[in-house]
Amino acid sequence: MDFEAFFKSELDGLHEEGRYRVFADIERHRGKFPRATRHTADGPKEVTVWCSNDYLGMGQHPKVIEAMKDAIDHCGAGAGGTRNISGTTHYHVLLERELADLHGKESALIFTSGYVSNWASLGTLGAKIPGLIIFSDAGNHASMIEGIRHAKCEKVIWKHNDVRDLEAKLAAADPKAPKLIAFESVYSMDGDIAPIKEICDIADRYGAMTYLDEVHAVGMYGPRGGGVAEREGLMDRITIIEATLGKAFGVMGGYIAGSAALCDFIRSFASGFIFTTALPPTLAAGATAAIQHLKMSGFERARHQEQVRKLRAMLDARGIPHMPNPSHIVPVIVGDAAKCKWISDILLDNYDIYVQPINYPTVPRKTERLRITPTPLHTDADLEKLVGALHQLWSRCALARAVA
Ligand SMILES: *Cc1c(COP(=O)(O)O)cnc(C)c1O
Repeated sequence: MDFEAFFKSELDGLHEEGRYRVFADIERHRGKFPRATRHTADGPKEVTVWCSNDYLGMGQHPKVIEAMKDAIDHCGAGAGGTRNISGTTHYHVLLERELADLHGKESALIFTSGYVSNWASLGTLGAKIPGLIIFSDAGNHASMIEGIRHAKCEKVIWKHNDVRDLEAKLAAADPKAPKLIAFESVYSMDGDIAPIKEICDIADRYGAMTYLDEVHAVGMYGPRGGGVAEREGLMDRITIIEATLGKAFGVMGGYIAGSAALCDFIRSFASGFIFTTALPPTLAAGATAAIQHLKMSGFERARHQEQVRKLRAMLDARGIPHMPNPSHIVPVIVGDAAKCKWISDILLDNYDIYVQPINYPTVPRKTERLRITPTPLHTDADLEKLVGALHQLWSRCALARAVA
């Protein structure tokens, strides 16, 4: 086989569809978020980032940076091993305590990323619990899907956020089989939120465990940033809460929180936990600082929601259609892969506005979009500039307007 020709022809297919992914080569500057330098063939340019998952700018928070510098001065760069073999530092222990407390659980367990935490936890539960059936929301993240696939257990996919469909599917399953319901709180591409209470009620009726991915909610919702389940007083009804340290907490890593026995079980059996080097202590220290800060400070959360509200109102005033949802994610639908990429390129090249186009398979075809994530650090002038640019482009591309 001509391997090179194969790779190139597969890539050509992506180019033809307009969904070949191109990295923006950007350099963030401490204290200047959401400003960044973009490196181009014509030299560096300053851009404003509108698609970061560092939702609250915590990646640049002085307390987080201080904690990380402190940790590197204290114990150097890497952890030096897996958690079992010399890689558990005191920073990891403190972080797990902080996370257990955040979610009101007995225990927490950290992983090298949110992806790995979902993959390893669901994979281990599905593989190890005899006869487990996993009921997975159709909108679940790739990392959950891969974990369930890896488990090779029975899986049932229920219609996104549809509790009737979930209940019908649970009712149709073997009443004696152990069951787990896997879902997310805030879904990252549409920004919609699961009916957590109803799902917990159904789980109770069928004796199912609940597994909730709060990746797009921790730090941002709930009085202490514990997520949507905290805001709604439901944390104690969720068996396993999973989230990331890489989005609103601004650093990197993933975790689960749950009972002591459950966390110990995953710790003891999950290959994706056991056979990989522990997070560097610096990351653990930075994440701990971010979590501690956001437990005490509601300022970032309030200002975040305020900027989101302002952006929506400004888009409405110009008739730029955006998906309504109760979260901080503002999806502006373009509905065509090539057009979406083109708009994103022009925003970047002519307006110094960086919003990555979101195409298939991240979202269904015909719903290609700009996924805008305003942060507490975007100013009102930033919002005006963004909406002004979109307004001009909407006219240039003859894109449909929303009716006011
Ligand atoms: C980003 C994401 C993850 C993975 O988290 P990382 O820490 O980035 O690996 C898991 N679940 C959802 C819903 C996500 O959007």
